Amino acid sequence: MVNQDPTNPSHALFDQFVQSQTCKEVQRTFSELCHHLQLDPRDYQSFYTKLKERLNYWKAKALWIKLDKRAQHQDYQQGKVCVKTKCLVLGAGPCGLRTAIELALLGAQVVVLEKRDSFSRNNVLHLWPYTIYDLRGLAAKKFYGKFCTGALDHISIRQLQLILLKVSLLLGVEVHTGVEFKGFVEPSEATGWMAELFPDDHPAGKFQFDVFISAGGGRFVPDGFRWKELRGKLAIGITCNFINHHSAAEAQVAEISGVARIYNQKFFQDLLTEKGIDLENIVYYKDATHYFVMTAKKKSLLKMGVIKQDFSDANQLLGQANVDQEALLRYAHGAAHFSTGHRLPNMQFALNHAGQPDVAMFDFTCMHRAENASLVRERKGKKLLMGLVGDCLVEPFWPLGTGIARGFLAAFDTAWMVRSWGKGKPHLEVVAERESIYQLLSQTTPENINKNYSAFSIDPATRYQHVNLNSIKANQLQHLYDVEDHIDLGRPTKKQKDSVGAFEELLKWCQQHTAGYDRVKVKDLTQSWRSGLALCALINTFRPHLIDMSSLKESDSVHNNQLAFSLLEGELGIPPIISASDMATKEQIDKLSMVLYLTQIHDAFNERTP
Ligand code: FAD
Repeated sequence: MVNQDPTNPSHALFDQFVQSQTCKEVQRTFSELCHHLQLDPRDYQSFYTKLKERLNYWKAKALWIKLDKRAQHQDYQQGKVCVKTKCLVLGAGPCGLRTAIELALLGAQVVVLEKRDSFSRNNVLHLWPYTIYDLRGLAAKKFYGKFCTGALDHISIRQLQLILLKVSLLLGVEVHTGVEFKGFVEPSEATGWMAELFPDDHPAGKFQFDVFISAGGGRFVPDGFRWKELRGKLAIGITCNFINHHSAAEAQVAEISGVARIYNQKFFQDLLTEKGIDLENIVYYKDATHYFVMTAKKKSLLKMGVIKQDFSDANQLLGQANVDQEALLRYAHGAAHFSTGHRLPNMQFALNHAGQPDVAMFDFTCMHRAENASLVRERKGKKLLMGLVGDCLVEPFWPLGTGIARGFLAAFDTAWMVRSWGKGKPHLEVVAERESIYQLLSQTTPENINKNYSAFSIDPATRYQHVNLNSIKANQLQHLYDVEDHIDLGRPTKKQKDSVGAFEELLKWCQQHTAGYDRVKVKDLTQSWRSGLALCALINTFRPHLIDMSSLKESDSVHNNQLAFSLLEGELGIPPIISASDMATKEQIDKLSMVLYLTQIHDAFNERTP
């Protein structure tokens, strides 16, 4: 073994790179290291191998052992499966970088674009056990010694980005910061798909790619994708960060991993009485900062002068002009101080990227979710596979801490999609497989994903309990293949006829097998299923002994749906796609989810009926 040589500058440079604490420093030390080792980081196919050869002392080797273990997984086929694939990833948030790492392991050329030039978010992310396991496997602890020590299950956003940036660079991913993606440049006869960037003379503008992954964060859904709003009751989130002086007194203060009003009425009542602060929930994590996230009631924000005037429109209500920043600081400070039993000494706000106290208020009333996770565009015979990951796919509700867990699941699913693409699977089959897996994402919890974390890979079957990669068929998704000038998911075009045809066939089958049942009239694939009676009728047609239709009341829709869901899961192994109460009461039922569900029922009954 070659030990670290204090006189060897590459060892010192590598050490600086590993320890770097800002995005700029990571990039600078990496470039110095490459320069010193005479390595070209754009030589993505052999960069990692050459780096390993040239940095062969114990500290570097310990890192290579970790990364090699991941890289040797059979899914990557020794980094050969996507050698011809060129991927552009938009956004160097945690999900963009996590996806980039997987794409690099598959052997693809990967370029990441990030419009910011620093990682400045102090806010802290909750990590599900599998994400901790995953990040340990990427040597997180070597880059950040405090990573999830003891029972810690969280990390600041910026620290997570730093870890993932370092791994990305080592694996040959090209990361450009301070450059904004503005749109696509369509192919010509001589060129492939390229990006329009700001600044417009940025060299990454010349990169030609066949896969585009958007990880641009909340609500950054690229052209061609549609999203839905999941509108709940008004929910106003507040986050704040205080400096962690790392004193003995601070170490004593217990974290709050989530106190919801329903579980601790007295706590919230006392907070209201003592401070006039009225919250729905609060979370406190002790990390690089003391971080709090809470959901506050509008009435108390108005009363405490945080919100100046009441508006029904959330944008107006929480707009800068309507918020008294000083009052917001007092409110957040008061809540943090009270909820930690007044035991956090010397509570000074940490500063945000703008040098201001790091306190912010957000609207969680209306969450977004993309209707589809993928699509294919084709111009001049050149296909572009597009996918969404992270917050732009499903926006998380921060106090629940689902952002990274679901974000990483989607990153792996997306890598699986690119793998199929790289293997030459027909484009609509690639999309159909991706959409089949996407249906599972919003239902995932730490409890219902597989528990054998060491077996987790980009293969969805290693992570999800019930996964059917073919639950949505390619012929249902013609509308996600855009070969003309623009895609319009609202109006069926000639291209969509097949998919519309498939929906119609499914509808016809449902009508045929529910005909004649009292109080059941199937007219569509969404509203007609609300009361649960149509589902029960369908089951009754094929398994008459399972349900007594005469005992069911139309008004008991939650019960009817629950009954049907349980029978379908128990008898046919088809997991529900929505909760029984959402099915009965939710303003809009997701059509594609219903198509998936009913298709599974159709397939199961058709296969099992002689
Ligand atoms: P992000 O982390 O949002 O990353 C998206 C990246 O894309 C950004 O770096 C952005 O600069 C870049 N980008 C966007 N558009 C372009 C473009 N056109 N060109 C180039 N780059 C672009 N979650 C919590 O659980 N708790 C919190 O307290 C919390 N606080 C947050 C505070 C802020 C200000 C934000 C934005 C998000 C916060 N989140 C929080 C959400 C959390 O950060 C995400 O769930 C998590 O980081 C995974 O997101 P992501 O990688 O999909 O997107």
